Formats: sequence, structure tokens, C-alpha cells
Amino acid sequence: MNLLLVEDDTVLADALQQQLGRASFKVEWADNGAVAEYLLRKQDFDIAVLDLGLPMVDGLTVLKRVREAGRSLPILVLTALDALEHRVAGLQAGADDYLTKPFDFPELEARLQALLRRGRPAGPAIQLRGLSLDRSARRATVAGEPVELSPREWTLLELLLTERDRVVTKPQIVEAWGSEDSGSIEVYIHRLRKKLDGSGVAVRTVRGLGYLLEATATSA
Ligand code: CA
Repeated sequence: MNLLLVEDDTVLADALQQQLGRASFKVEWADNGAVAEYLLRKQDFDIAVLDLGLPMVDGLTVLKRVREAGRSLPILVLTALDALEHRVAGLQAGADDYLTKPFDFPELEARLQALLRRGRPAGPAIQLRGLSLDRSARRATVAGEPVELSPREWTLLELLLTERDRVVTKPQIVEAWGSEDSGSIEVYIHRLRKKLDGSGVAVRTVRGLGYLLEATATSA
């Protein structure tokens, strides 16, 4: 996982780089907001840890600009300022989570892992044949008709659609669900197939591997 660490406190940044490295993150470090913006433009990061009080360009501005540019990577804000208004401003500017300094590293790691699991609801709808998933509104339609999906069905369909034409394995599904329960996958696949009827999209079972979403020959 590529992580951008934006922190001007070099002692803290050093410690975090070592700990994040041990937690198998590949870390790039920026010690001011301008370098952070440069790196964000130049490279693809899976996640960012962003201090708010920064030289050159402050963290809140970096955050706003990243979101204005339509970038959706999860961002965890670090702040020494425990005031409620800073937290609110950060979340409004597009932070996904925040931690107040001082914090324990295991807490930071747990939150980063949670953000990576959750992902960030991406903006526009994804579409395949007659199936459309509007991720920001959490609405699914088949041939223009709204379809009711349970949270697990939604997560499953979103995963299959994002990975379309690639096999999605049971462990991937279980991980996306954030559960230990792989026994019910077939039940959910069965329900999903019924709901996708008439969409021109089908879930194919790939024996011993998993499932695959593909457009069928006869489209709706
Ligand atoms: Ca700072």
C-alpha cells in the first residue's frame, strides 16, 4: 500500500515512517504542504496521513484542493488541535477520519486499515449494459428500474462490477463484507442473479476460483 505521510514534525515523521514501514506500508514523506501537493499530483497513493498545521500550504488547503481535483483517496487527518471546529472543518473539507495528537501507533494503524477496507464511495455511477450503480447515492437500477439491495448484496455487486471480467474470490468477498462468514456467499450470489435478471449482465461461477461479472450475449 502506497501511503503519503504529510508531517512537518521530523521526529514524529521519522517514528511514523519506521512504524508504517513495519506495518508494510510503502511510505513517501512530505514535510510541507507544497511538497505534498506535488507528490499527490505526480504519484498514485492508496491513502494519505495529513497533518493540518504545515508550512507553505496548510493541511486543510491541501485537503480541499485534493477533493476539488476529484481525487478520492482516503485521507486521515492528524491534528494537535483538539477543538471541535477543527475536526468539523477537516471532515467538511473531505477528510475520512482524524486522529488527535498524541496518539498510539496501533490506533493509527487500525484506522488506516479500516479506511482501506471501506474505501471511499467514488463519485459517478458505474454501468454495464442495463445495470447501473450510483455509488454516491447508493442506488442500483436494472434497465432503468430501481433495485433494492441489502448492504451485503450492494457490497458484493459493487465488488463484482468494479472487478468486471476478472474473477472475484470468496476471500475477497468476505474481506469486502468485513466478516468471517463465507458460508452464505452462494446464497447472496443466488439472490443477486435473480435481481440482475433482464440487466444483460450475469454472474458466472468459475469453479474453484470464485465469481465473475460479465455482459451476456443478449443485452437488455
Ligand atoms: Ca504540524
